[in-house]
Amino acid sequence: MQICRFNDNRLGLVDGDKVKDVTSALDVLPAQHYPLPTHDLMIANLPHVREAITTVAKGAKSYALSDVRLLSPIANPGKIIAAPVNYKKHLDEARADPQIHHQNQIAEIQRVGLFLKATSSLVGPSESVTIRHPDRRTDHEIELAAIIGTRADRVTREQALAHVAGYCIGFDITVRGPEERSLRKSIDSYTVLGPWLTTADSVADPSSLDLRLTVGGEVRQQANTRDLIIGIADLIVFATSFYTLMPGDVLLTGTPEGVGPIKPGEVMDATISGLGSMRVEVR
Ligand code: MN
Repeated sequence: MQICRFNDNRLGLVDGDKVKDVTSALDVLPAQHYPLPTHDLMIANLPHVREAITTVAKGAKSYALSDVRLLSPIANPGKIIAAPVNYKKHLDEARADPQIHHQNQIAEIQRVGLFLKATSSLVGPSESVTIRHPDRRTDHEIELAAIIGTRADRVTREQALAHVAGYCIGFDITVRGPEERSLRKSIDSYTVLGPWLTTADSVADPSSLDLRLTVGGEVRQQANTRDLIIGIADLIVFATSFYTLMPGDVLLTGTPEGVGPIKPGEVMDATISGLGSMRVEVR
């Protein structure tokens, strides 16, 4: 199943080049009281929501996908976790280019571990990336994003993938410079998720997906998730050895080689096989 959020926080069921408005499926969500949970309510109740989607889709109003404004498929992630330099060729290019490493030591992911991005940085494809520091180099990074479905604490490799609700295309937009990663990558609109959530049962093998990102039609990044240094299951094992993952937490698995600068006015097109395609403007 492919589930999107669109226009004015509508819930959509993606069906080919159409989207069915299944917002009323959210009626199954439990009422909330302050303080609100620190996880995503829709993902935490995804099995019920999916059942309701199937029911309400029959009579649902349908739109052309090209006519709707896509939002982040995850509305309220508690954490956005990201893996640095998790493809060997990207590690090599980062070490070779002073404009990327800025005298920061680029160590292997096994030594650096993971970092967190502010949840306030998250937008959907229709919302554009807005360059905050036009005087500094700002790079695109396409990544496979795994969305956690169920609470996961110190899980084993064998258990890990069962905690994944689904997958999206993720952008980890990055201003280059000497500061900590979490600062440079947490700027408003510097995390993009889209075009929709593809549930895990619709992804045969997340460790063999083609990723491709073009800027202005020029291919910049093209790779396959089989080349991840630390695969998705082991990233979850690693993350949950430090903190509990909750429904809706986003795990950005790292970008492959080919990162490069983006400028206002440019257009990024991204595709991950089986997960769809999305277009994101740079402002
Ligand atoms: Mn990244």
